[in-house]
Amino acid sequence: HAKELGRNNYQWYSMEMERKMSRSLLIENGLKTALKHHRFHLVFQPQIHMLNEELTGVEVLLRYEHPELGSISPIEFIPLCEQTGIIDEVTHWILTEAVFHQLEWKRKQYPRVKMAINISPLTIEKKGFVQYVKNLVERTGVDPSLFEFEITEDAFMNFTEEVKSHMLELQNLGIRIALDDFGSGYSSLKQLKDLPIDKIKIDRTFIQNVPAIERDQAIIESILDLTSRLNNEIICEGVETKEQVDYLITQNCLYAQGYYYSKPVNSTELEERWFKKMQKIRS
Ligand code: C2E
Ligand code: MG
Ligand code: MG
Ligand code: MG
Repeated sequence: HAKELGRNNYQWYSMEMERKMSRSLLIENGLKTALKHHRFHLVFQPQIHMLNEELTGVEVLLRYEHPELGSISPIEFIPLCEQTGIIDEVTHWILTEAVFHQLEWKRKQYPRVKMAINISPLTIEKKGFVQYVKNLVERTGVDPSLFEFEITEDAFMNFTEEVKSHMLELQNLGIRIALDDFGSGYSSLKQLKDLPIDKIKIDRTFIQNVPAIERDQAIIESILDLTSRLNNEIICEGVETKEQVDYLITQNCLYAQGYYYSKPVNSTELEERWFKKMQKIRS
């Protein structure tokens, strides 16, 4: 009987594996032609100065619409872009779009808003990447200090010496480097020690339960103490409630990004809801 059960379990298990495999394959196949078929688009999530609730920047987030499966989370499709090697090409597209938007916003005379762009360490590591960015900046005349590259280390990709030296070269071009998801997973103290970092994004798992859970308060307060002593800019991710905002302000942490202020929005919404308001206030 037990043997039979084991066998059934095995069958169920392999069916489940097969289902997952075919989903990944389906997504991988879609991704191959996604650029050509305009299946990617960008959304922007506001970054806010909590004291005056002003917009200081936006994070650029990639969205992908699969022809059969519909909208897929970047948590699922970015690793597939990395594994299939199309991540560089996708990142080039994102950068070109981002520059296009910046030039458009300048033309419309919106206030200057910085842009944070997620870059896979796999891409940063590539030999031609810094040159690609340099050419893009020179060709378009865009102000490089408007851009910040967010990087996260993951299980498949460590920060090698190449990654490190390319970060320095990007900083020399005027681009800022932010360490994403700080404190979670692979993004840790070692990175703070070894990498050229301008800004630290504290992972939302540390924000989630404050001020409710005291133990989490102790942790976030220590993180803020440590990171502020390094003279880096600090921003908290995943801020969802007024209580979190009030608490973070008492802890002297002034920048936030999260659903409390806004979900990621498309460029039209960004202009309508944020830029036009800012323009009115300042004129
Ligand atoms: P991330 O860079 O840490 O981005 C923040 C993620 O948290 C975004 O998820 C955002 O929508 C979500 N988020 C923001 N505020 C809140 C909140 O208040 N509560 C909760 N629960 N979530 C919040 P998203 O857009 O699904 O992206 C997930 C991850 O995928 C990103 O994490 C980033 O690592 C990766 N990713 C997204 N776009 C790109 C890209 O263009 N290139 C690369 N290489 N990675 C990207
Ligand atoms: Mg990010
Ligand atoms: Mg993050
Ligand atoms: Mg992340």
